[in-house]
Amino acid sequence: MQVTQTDAALDAAEQVCARRGVRLTSLRRRVLEQILKTDGVIKAYDLIHELSSADRNIKPPTVYRSLSFLLEQGFIHRIESLNGFVACNHPGEIHETLLMICDTCGDIQELHPTEISHALDHAATQQGFSVEKKIVELHGRCRTCVAPVGTALPAR
Ligand SMILES: [Zn+2]
Ligand SMILES: [Zn+2]
Repeated sequence: MQVTQTDAALDAAEQVCARRGVRLTSLRRRVLEQILKTDGVIKAYDLIHELSSADRNIKPPTVYRSLSFLLEQGFIHRIESLNGFVACNHPGEIHETLLMICDTCGDIQELHPTEISHALDHAATQQGFSVEKKIVELHGRCRTCVAPVGTALPAR
């Protein structure tokens, strides 16, 4: 992700926070910035390492608190199966996500398939189960990694 896109995403997060009356403190902003700058998933451990090597005053508990804030506000998603975090591709609204994770290159794509979400709700309700959160993670290979090296992707 380019710096300009990171800046734009940070500004957008700033505006969402102002609208909700919550504060994007400088640490929260730095945590979000680091996640935005990372291609693919970043583990909490690596995030803490990156931030604390730049600033020794940054301690793990404060980073974890910032992460929960960013999750609550919908700016990032937790990837349970990789125990890491990824920036949301359309922050600002709380939404359900289906994440497609490429195990070859680490690329992560986010989809919002409402039909699947409704199907899961329906299936769970039939079992008398009340859903509180849904995390759907698909592992596999992305379009680029599926195509053999040197072969062009099929047109359209
Ligand atoms: Zn999202
Ligand atoms: Zn890939």
